[in-house]
Amino acid sequence: MIFSEKWIDEELTRLGQKSLERRLTAYGEAGGKISIDGRIFLNFSSNDYLGLSGHPEVVWASRRHLESYGCGATASRLVSGTLHPHVELEEKLAAIKGYEAALVFGSGFLANVGIIASLAGRNDHIFADKLVHASIIDGISLSRANLKRFRHNDPDHLESLLRGCPASGRRLIVTESVFSMDGDIAPLAEIASLSNRYGAMTLVDEAHATGVFGPRGRGLIRECGLEGAINLSMGTLSKALGGYGGFVACSRRMRDLLVNRARAFIYTTALPPSVIGSALGALGVVEKAGDLGAELLGRATVFRKRLRDRGLDVLGSQSQIVPVLIGDNVAALAAAQRLKTRGILAVAIRPPTVPEGTARLRLSLTLDHTDHDLEWAAEEIAGACR
Ligand SMILES: *Cc1c(COP(=O)(O)O)cnc(C)c1O
Repeated sequence: MIFSEKWIDEELTRLGQKSLERRLTAYGEAGGKISIDGRIFLNFSSNDYLGLSGHPEVVWASRRHLESYGCGATASRLVSGTLHPHVELEEKLAAIKGYEAALVFGSGFLANVGIIASLAGRNDHIFADKLVHASIIDGISLSRANLKRFRHNDPDHLESLLRGCPASGRRLIVTESVFSMDGDIAPLAEIASLSNRYGAMTLVDEAHATGVFGPRGRGLIRECGLEGAINLSMGTLSKALGGYGGFVACSRRMRDLLVNRARAFIYTTALPPSVIGSALGALGVVEKAGDLGAELLGRATVFRKRLRDRGLDVLGSQSQIVPVLIGDNVAALAAAQRLKTRGILAVAIRPPTVPEGTARLRLSLTLDHTDHDLEWAAEEIAGACR
């Protein structure tokens, strides 16, 4: 007889009682505008910010790589899984991000886990913004370093923690450039200057900035001209670039270290050629088009103003990620439910993902949402939140 799974029922029942059990829903399409049972929905939960996931040139680049190289890389990167397209992509990412080198990982999650556990150990100190992504937290746990969290986007608090830190051991500061839940922006220049003053390395996660912020979507580090002051510029190929995978841009020596130390890089199969092809295709489209990110951010600015004019609180959003504060958990769920009946998909984000009493709708804008769509959506959202 197999071991009883009764404990799983108990666990799931507990989640259900707190309205926290989550379920998977399968969709027939991905992207910012999708059809469900023949009806078109505005999907505000997609990270396909630039609509590149289905872009003909991106699909074509992916298919070309699939046909030339086959379905899989068939080995890990250090064995024989590094194909010419992997090298081409890394060189392109390094150039775009303004660093000497870049290294591609299986996903953004694996990149953060692999990088952080390679840079810090038991006797080292990591300073992380209170709102950083779960992959950063898991990387820190794996590293076994001492973790100190600084108040969200608060360089003064970061400085007081750095000042109080023992002199021994390495120091690493970690933050995101555009935050995934609040859509606000980190004070990168102040953080870089603190890292310099207190002898700390800095890792910035540009998951939501890559493709959107900076000249030709090169990210916020480049927009601020901080390539020379921030050690590691991490990003993902899975959001604005419409495909899958993670990467970091850094110095050549740092890349050498990661190749030798990052277990999440070493002990896993290299990304398939078609996935690398789609990233190359997406970077090509972004470079050629030039202002896709600026266009999206322009629409987001107008959208936030429309929501504010209707009395809604969009917190500190300065990006394509727009939260709408509701407060009460049940009210947030009800608003999401009402919007669904109107043809709008928006997730209700509740504690513990966000602080108690700050339940909200989280809206991700993509270029699939036209000005006209957004004007209509703002009215609907205001109605659903009333
Ligand atoms: C999505 C995300 C990641 C993980 O990237 P994947 O490529 O989806 O694994 C890492 N950091 C942040 C801030 C993210 O939003």
